[in-house]
Amino acid sequence: MTRTVRRSLESVKQIAADVVARFGQRLVVVGVTAGEANGSYTEVMFGDQCQCPIIIGVARNESDADLRRRIADGLRQHFDHVHN
Ligand SMILES: [Zn+2]
Repeated sequence: MTRTVRRSLESVKQIAADVVARFGQRLVVVGVTAGEANGSYTEVMFGDQCQCPIIIGVARNESDADLRRRIADGLRQHFDHVHN
């Protein structure tokens, strides 16, 4: 498994925005918050058209592909379980 250096919050936000742009639902990235100062756990908050709070926990030292997959899975789960 590939480990990358801990990325910046801005970089997490950009990747999240990119995943959202390809997701095919009306979604926006609301924000990104760091857990502990030196930890890599980060939460990404999304907003959808029904104003559900969608929060997906990610690790900032994950590879690009893992980060994208985790975000896409989290979003898919929301739409599968909350909106059907
Ligand atoms: Zn929703």
